[in-house]
Amino acid sequence: MTTTPPQQNDESGESDLDSALVTARRQLERAAAHIDVDDGVIERLKHPTRVEQVSVPLERDDGSVDVFTGYRAQHDDVRGPYKGGLRYHPEVNADECVGLSMWMTWKCAVMDLPFGGGKGGISIDPKSLSDDEKERLTRRFAEELRYVIGPTRDVPAPDMGTDAQTMAWFMDAYSMQQGETIPGVVTGKPPVIGGSYGREEAPGRSTAIAAREAVDYYDMDLENTTIAVQGFGSVGANAARLLESWGADVVAVSDVNGAIYDPDGLDIESIPTHEEEPEAVLKQDAPETLSNEEILELDVDVLIPAAIGNVITADNADDIAADIVVEGANGPTTFAADTILEERGVHVIPDILANAGGVTVSYFEWLQDINRRKWSLEEVNQELESKMLDAWEEVRTEVEEKELSWRDAAYVVALSRIAEAKATRGLWP
Ligand code: GLU
Repeated sequence: MTTTPPQQNDESGESDLDSALVTARRQLERAAAHIDVDDGVIERLKHPTRVEQVSVPLERDDGSVDVFTGYRAQHDDVRGPYKGGLRYHPEVNADECVGLSMWMTWKCAVMDLPFGGGKGGISIDPKSLSDDEKERLTRRFAEELRYVIGPTRDVPAPDMGTDAQTMAWFMDAYSMQQGETIPGVVTGKPPVIGGSYGREEAPGRSTAIAAREAVDYYDMDLENTTIAVQGFGSVGANAARLLESWGADVVAVSDVNGAIYDPDGLDIESIPTHEEEPEAVLKQDAPETLSNEEILELDVDVLIPAAIGNVITADNADDIAADIVVEGANGPTTFAADTILEERGVHVIPDILANAGGVTVSYFEWLQDINRRKWSLEEVNQELESKMLDAWEEVRTEVEEKELSWRDAAYVVALSRIAEAKATRGLWP
């Protein structure tokens, strides 16, 4: 079933915990003011092309049947097929998918990837599923979305609550129905079935690269830099490990239960990631433990929120003591908090640049699938480094020339590319 695009939310609410859609639209309007772009293009970009809503029936292990709601928001494909993750989370809804799909459009454009933005998922708590149930749910979801996805149409990937195995089931279900193996229908698969080496670590790697470049830009020395990382899943843990290996002092990390803190630096390598051992952070020896709120307010040089969205809000933005915030998660800073941080001179390196390594290596994976030629891990990491540095330079130029925040500058780079593509293609019919 194809639904009409969701209506604009009521933006007059007191809370600044806006939906991803409200935040994404506000960020778009704010950035649009800095470039000469046709109003019609901005208006078109406020709305998704389509939001597919499907019912996904699941036979439980005990034989009973539950029905869940799944979505796929396709925001814009002027630069190429829709691209973005599939999320299994209780808070997944149409508006959230649209907002997140908008961020994917900008993310792909800022990295100059030939993709547009998509995002989807199922409103479900993945912890409530057995492995067998998760497999059945994923296979049925792939079937329900089969008519709107495909390697040249819309290419899903992992996101919150999904992983490489989920993508393997999804690819298998799609391929069985199509009658041929089509690895390029999703990215983030295990390497043995067409996944790319380095894909799993990529969002953490790009977040670490962004932190390294930001530290250098503000004339700090990575060896004397203290870093706090909220979230020890694939983004946070990989970013923390890399930054430690480059000489930084990662002094605090957290998972869903809280944080550990050592002002002299933690031994990051010895802490299992969420994937290696879920919720292991507080089991480690450390001089101090903190709450997930306290870790955000630590007096460190760099703060990396890499867990969930909306953690830096109007309520705590004044208490953020870091000089630089590098957004490992998607949307960790609310629109109101962003303004406060900017006024306070805290530099925020936005998600659409910092964690873009995920979709960038997804692009490399898609190329490998389509060309049937595997790249080595060295090749992947080298290409990712070079893509990140190109994007960093483009964004830095806008920061300096237009005196913009890093977020506005990243939006300006992305929007300019999208607007030019739209002007060149024209409006059909
Ligand atoms: N879910 C990831 C993101 O938010 C990756 C998307 C992809 O690889 O397509 O960027």
